[in-house]
Amino acid sequence: MTETMSRTSPGSTAAFIALDERWSTHNYHPLPVVIAEAEGAWVTDVAGRRYLDFLSAYSALNFGHRHPALVAAAVAQLGRVTLTSRAFHHDQLGVFCAELAELTGTEMVLPMNSGAEAVESALKVARKWAYEVKKIPADQAEIVVAGSNFHGRTISIVSFSTDESARAGFGPFTPGFVVVKYGDAQALRDAITERTAAVLLEPIQGEAGVLVPPDGYLAEARRVCDEAGVLLIADEIQSGLARTGTLFALDHEHVRADLYTLGKALGGGIVPLSAVVGRRDVLGVLKPGEHGSTFGGNPLACAVGRAVIELLSTGEYQRRSAELGAHLEARLGEFVGHGVAEVRGRGLWAGIDLTPGGPSGRETSEELARRGVLCKETHGTTLRIAPPLMISREDLDHGLDIVADVVTR
Ligand SMILES: *Cc1c(COP(=O)(O)O)cnc(C)c1O
Repeated sequence: MTETMSRTSPGSTAAFIALDERWSTHNYHPLPVVIAEAEGAWVTDVAGRRYLDFLSAYSALNFGHRHPALVAAAVAQLGRVTLTSRAFHHDQLGVFCAELAELTGTEMVLPMNSGAEAVESALKVARKWAYEVKKIPADQAEIVVAGSNFHGRTISIVSFSTDESARAGFGPFTPGFVVVKYGDAQALRDAITERTAAVLLEPIQGEAGVLVPPDGYLAEARRVCDEAGVLLIADEIQSGLARTGTLFALDHEHVRADLYTLGKALGGGIVPLSAVVGRRDVLGVLKPGEHGSTFGGNPLACAVGRAVIELLSTGEYQRRSAELGAHLEARLGEFVGHGVAEVRGRGLWAGIDLTPGGPSGRETSEELARRGVLCKETHGTTLRIAPPLMISREDLDHGLDIVADVVTR
């Protein structure tokens, strides 16, 4: 970047987009909106236009933009200490882990940063547990996953993706994964062998288009794992932390996982913060030097995470998601047959399949943005709706009126 460019404010929306497209890798295809500020459920662009946020950074903003309690926790910690590395103890880590274990009803917490890191960590822990505890022969452990999954973007994780655009050009891939059809309990049962260490599932598949599995599938997955002595790992990075109206999406089927991966909303929309939480006899296989991260469990992230845990501990967000979610479901139900083929969802989280042959998901998202509602298509023809859980009913209805106007015909 030249000296003058770095010092000159680009000024217009087009100039900011041109700058992104010149200097930022093209691994995303963003909508042509340049956000400058945000508060609660609303964002403002560089030209001063306001938009309702119906995406919530893929559920990382469950509490809305700049929630006052979360900002206050971050600011207070910025005035104390932000980073120590795990070479030393600090006064936020232990309390954060204890509070997260209490909230989630688990026994141990492994803090990391991104969601993909949490998933990688859970896979490493499951393999080590399999060799040390289950006595699977060295390097033979298998992990069963579901088709149409999304667990992140690292090489090992895309090794078991079924989305060609996530994989093509990134081989060779990590072995040791078996993919079965999502929602098919018999296929899951058939895939388990004496070498199976774990089953990794999203209780609801977010990136796939908010795919809710058939009733009983998750409970059956639990039964299959119990019978075979296999770990059930629930990836609740997007579905967890109140998004579906309960703390975990698994709670709807009264199922407990052995390990949960958490991320996105755990950082309160302020810092990257993820974690693996679960059984002490499983996470306990990690010994010093075997796993880690320079920034994992840093004081700033832990302080924000503690404030997130406090917001979740009252149940208020879970209740709001359930109540507003019922309203969302009722309103979206009226769209079906009018430019909409199907709607799915749970809590304040929905996938809307547009009728094939009409405007594409991308065109629809662009039109919604022009009309002041931000959401994003997934897989061509599905719109995903995930407003912040603190959204008012009036704002939700305002956004849904615009969605109705744009998608129904
Ligand atoms: C977003 C997501 C991830 C990856 O999280 P990153 O923070 O983007 O690495 C993993 N699993 C699920 C279910 C997700 O939705």
